[in-house]
Amino acid sequence: MSAQIIDGKKIAQEVREQVSRDVMNLVSRGITPGLATILVGDDPGSQVYVRNKQKVAQELGIYSEHHALPAGSTQQEVTNKIEELNNNPKIHAILCQLPLPDGLDPWKVLETINPRKDVDGFHPVNLGKLLSCKKRSEIDELGIPVPCTPLGIMELIRHSGIEVSGKHAVVVGRSNIVGKPVALLLMSENATVTICHSRTKGLADIIREADIVVAAIGKPRYVQADWVKPGACVIDVGINRTDSGLVGDVDFENVKKVAGWLTPVPGGVGPMTIAMLMKSTVARAVPRRGL
Ligand code: NDP
Repeated sequence: MSAQIIDGKKIAQEVREQVSRDVMNLVSRGITPGLATILVGDDPGSQVYVRNKQKVAQELGIYSEHHALPAGSTQQEVTNKIEELNNNPKIHAILCQLPLPDGLDPWKVLETINPRKDVDGFHPVNLGKLLSCKKRSEIDELGIPVPCTPLGIMELIRHSGIEVSGKHAVVVGRSNIVGKPVALLLMSENATVTICHSRTKGLADIIREADIVVAAIGKPRYVQADWVKPGACVIDVGINRTDSGLVGDVDFENVKKVAGWLTPVPGGVGPMTIAMLMKSTVARAVPRRGL
C-alpha cells in the first residue's frame, strides 16, 4: 500500500483563499492588515524568501512594506527600524528575516518587536505564552502568535483528517523555529510527544513507535523506510539542496511504501509556511482583548 501524499500546495491555496476573504472583510470594517518585512544583509536565499512573502501578501490584499538594511548595520540601527515599525499604525505584523549577519544579536532584535506585532511568534513573551497554554483552543482563543511552519504542519495534519489526540508523535529536531513549537502544538492537541535531536540514542527505534513523525533535521533523506511504523503519518519539514535537486529529510520514495500519509518536498510543508504567515498577519490586525 502506498501512502497518501499530502498536497501542501493545494491546502495552502485553500488557506490563502480564506485569508483573502478575511482581508476583504477587515477592509470593509476599515482595517487593512499591514505586514512589514526586514532583511539585514544580502543573503540570496533570504532575499528570495522575503520577496515571496511580499508577493503573496500583495496578492491577498495585505498592505506590505519591505525594509532592506545593509549587512554592516549596527544593533542600534536595526532596533531603530523595528521601533519605527512598532509605532507605525499601518503595520500590524513585523517579520525580521533570520538568520541575521554576524555581529547582530538575534535575541535582542526579536525582543525589540512589539509582541502584539510579532507575526513569527519568536518573541520570548509569545514563546512563554505558547508554553503556558495547555490546550490548542486556548492558544487560538488568546490569539497567541505561533511560529508559522509549526502552524502549517498542524494544518496539514488536521486537513488530512489525522487524529492527534492520544497518538504518539515523534519530533526529530529541537529548534525554536520548528522542533520545539511543533512539539508544544502536538501536545496541546493531546498527543504524547517525544522530541529527538542529534544526541538521541536509538533514533530509529523511537521513530518506529510513532503514529506521527515530524522530521525537521536538515539532513537529506535521513529518515529510512524501515524506521517508520506501517500506516504512520510522516511530515517532512527538511529543505536540502542536493545535486539531484531539492529533497527533504525523509527518504520519500521508500517511505511512501510504508507510511499512511507523507508530505512531499517540495510541495508539502514549504507552501504552508507562507500561507500561515499570511493568516497570522491578518490575525495580528484583528483587534482583540489582551493581546
Ligand atoms: P536546525 O539546524 O536549527 O535544527 C536541526 C535539528 O535537527 C537540531 O535540533 C539537531 O539536533 C537535529 N539533528 C541534526 N542531526 C541529527 C541527527 N543525526 N539525528 C537526530 N537529530 C538531528 O534546523 P531547523 O529546525 O531550522 O530546520 C530543519 C529543517 O527544516 C532544515 O532542512 C530547514 O531548511 C527546514 N525548514 C523548512 C521550513 C519550511 O518552511 N519548509 C521552515 C524552517 C526550516 P541538535 O539540537 O542536537 O543540534
